[in-house]
Amino acid sequence: MSQKQEQPKAYILLGPPGSGKSTQADIFKREFGCEHVDMGSALRRAAQEPTPFGENLSRIMNEEGGLVADEIMQAVLEQEIRKIAPDRPVIVDGAPRRESQIHEVLSVLNRHGKDFNKAIFVELSEEDSVDRISRRFSCADCGAKLILGKNFDSVGDRCPQCGGRVSQRADDTAEGVRKRWQVFHDETLPVLKYFEEQGQLLRVSGASDPETIFKDIRSGISEESA
Ligand SMILES: [Zn+2]
Repeated sequence: MSQKQEQPKAYILLGPPGSGKSTQADIFKREFGCEHVDMGSALRRAAQEPTPFGENLSRIMNEEGGLVADEIMQAVLEQEIRKIAPDRPVIVDGAPRRESQIHEVLSVLNRHGKDFNKAIFVELSEEDSVDRISRRFSCADCGAKLILGKNFDSVGDRCPQCGGRVSQRADDTAEGVRKRWQVFHDETLPVLKYFEEQGQLLRVSGASDPETIFKDIRSGISEESA
């Protein structure tokens, strides 16, 4: 059996805040052995660095609530992709966030030998987005992810796992989420349109539970590559 050596695949995950992208990325990791490039976390990590770059980034992300400049996104993405072993598939979450970033993201993937397969759009309404995110907290001590109304009852309660302080990401308030949803909507719509025109967009509903969403994604992917 002479099988042509296949390049590891690359997927791009798109969706508004709360659509469950990081959960899907975890399932991709489990099912396909994908490495997850989480641009949101990578940028937040970079923003914590005590350098002019980090401080500038932190101001843009926290105060202005907007998207960072394309050059910053590119530099951080390149850095993240470079850490990944050449034979591993990858799922990128959080980039491209707008039209001007599409070609750079695709060329970074290409330069690192990843074969771009599909952009996956997990759809979620603004209402569901706000509802999900504003209930999302975490423990400052043990890092547990905690959902208000599920893992604990009211704001101010301690962590049910370790008794630590429960806190919320600064932009996870209802107002913060509305703003991020709007930014997503305005900036990312042209990105969806681009991939749709290329026949490389897979739309799935983010309203169901994570395993059902993944089943939809998996069948959408295999329809094409089978
Ligand atoms: Zn804890």
